[in-house]
Amino acid sequence: MDKMHRCTNPSCRRNFLPNPRVKNQRYCNRKDCQRVRKTLWQREKMANDPDYKATQRDCRKRWLKQNPDYWREYRIRNPQYTEHNRLLQKKRDRKRRLDNLAKMDALERVSRLESGTYYLMPEGVDLAKMDALNHRFILIPTT
Ligand SMILES: [Zn+2]
Repeated sequence: MDKMHRCTNPSCRRNFLPNPRVKNQRYCNRKDCQRVRKTLWQREKMANDPDYKATQRDCRKRWLKQNPDYWREYRIRNPQYTEHNRLLQKKRDRKRRLDNLAKMDALERVSRLESGTYYLMPEGVDLAKMDALNHRFILIPTT
């Protein structure tokens, strides 16, 4: 009887009878396991074989050139993808706006300070105890 192999795919781990024509078969012939095998093989190839990587890139470029509507049609076929991206963008825009507002606000507050003598005090200090803290700082406008 032929020796059973155990599938390398961690989510499978089934025992299978290897195809005698395949040397060192590590994955069973289930679709998922073959896909995992192929993906890993490609990843390995992309990382270690510059020629393969270049070929793949050219291939992809050529394919996109021949299918210029692919992304447009993809977005039409997958409205939830577009919506998801739109929401992400909206979130990024909002964050940027808020960041800018905060920056402007801080800048405005600094620029509104008149020159003169100021007390520098730690936040949350009791105003009544203020004369104990007689570190004064003079602000001189640079303009
Ligand atoms: Zn398997």
